[in-house]
Amino acid sequence: MRSTGKLHLGNYVGALQNWVGMQDSYECYFFIADWHALTTDYADTSQVKQNSMEVLLDWLSAGLDPERSTLFIQSHVPQHAELHLLLSMITPLGWLERVPTYKEQQENITGKDLSTYGFLGYPVLMSADIMMYKGEFVPVGEDQVPHVELTREIARRFNQFYKFQDHAVFPEPQSLLTPEPKLPGTDGRKMSKSYGNTIMLTDPEPVVRQKLKTMVTDPARVRRTDPGNPDVCPVGDLHKIFSDKGTNDKVNVGCRSAGIGCIECKSWAADSLVKILNPMQQRRKKYEDNPRLAWDILEAGSAKARQVASTTMNEVREAMGMSLDYAGDGKT
Ligand code: SF4
Repeated sequence: MRSTGKLHLGNYVGALQNWVGMQDSYECYFFIADWHALTTDYADTSQVKQNSMEVLLDWLSAGLDPERSTLFIQSHVPQHAELHLLLSMITPLGWLERVPTYKEQQENITGKDLSTYGFLGYPVLMSADIMMYKGEFVPVGEDQVPHVELTREIARRFNQFYKFQDHAVFPEPQSLLTPEPKLPGTDGRKMSKSYGNTIMLTDPEPVVRQKLKTMVTDPARVRRTDPGNPDVCPVGDLHKIFSDKGTNDKVNVGCRSAGIGCIECKSWAADSLVKILNPMQQRRKKYEDNPRLAWDILEAGSAKARQVASTTMNEVREAMGMSLDYAGDGKT
């Protein structure tokens, strides 16, 4: 996850919530991609570290557990840069120009010059991030699948060229498609910081309630007596994700029959959100009061990641005929 600062509910349901659940079934590596943040925000790096810390605090508050998963920060594992460099040597330019997000982002992110070497090459860095840990599965949403596909192609090409003791160095990773429920922001568009329509994981209860009050609803409900449809209402979407069955039943019946008002319905949605956010915010407080604790978690995770990365890079260097030892067989 890029180090973009505090996370919102969209980040939670689109990724974090799935990751928390995966910890029981997989050996997981989660990292804060501070170098990736530089591919679009390179001019002002003053907030990068603070943004990384905010992401980490939200991870910990949402339930990522350093006892079960490796949590680390990309820039503290410099082997990622080395593998990125080596992979960039074998990656044809055409593969990068074809990545759908390349053109899309260049067109959509205005006010920044994205015609940089780093921006074109960031999918190679992503591939290095995945391949470094010999990742077999990458939890992604639909839009990230092309990046995993590219990683498979790069891994295949590497394995064709180079062998480590007669074996392929890298597995070809697979996308693990994670559910991405539709989560609208307060204005009904996709929740995104750039639209200013977010509900943050750190928003206190009064702020959540206030944001809900101004949230758009089914436009058919102009008057209190007009029936509505929760399936076309952003508040209805929130209920579907966060409210229990009983509340959803009440919303369905009440909205369609004009038996309830939107104000009442929104207060129920706020109740459901607060119920989820409160325990997260309590967990977060422990680390906000003692940020050093969080930093130590990140450092311990980064040290573990460096160990794994170092083993992988020894194999890569030997496979490519550039091992650090005299004989080049990894033994001396
Ligand atoms: S009652 Fe609820 S679901 Fe129906 S339009 Fe109002 S806010 Fe939306």
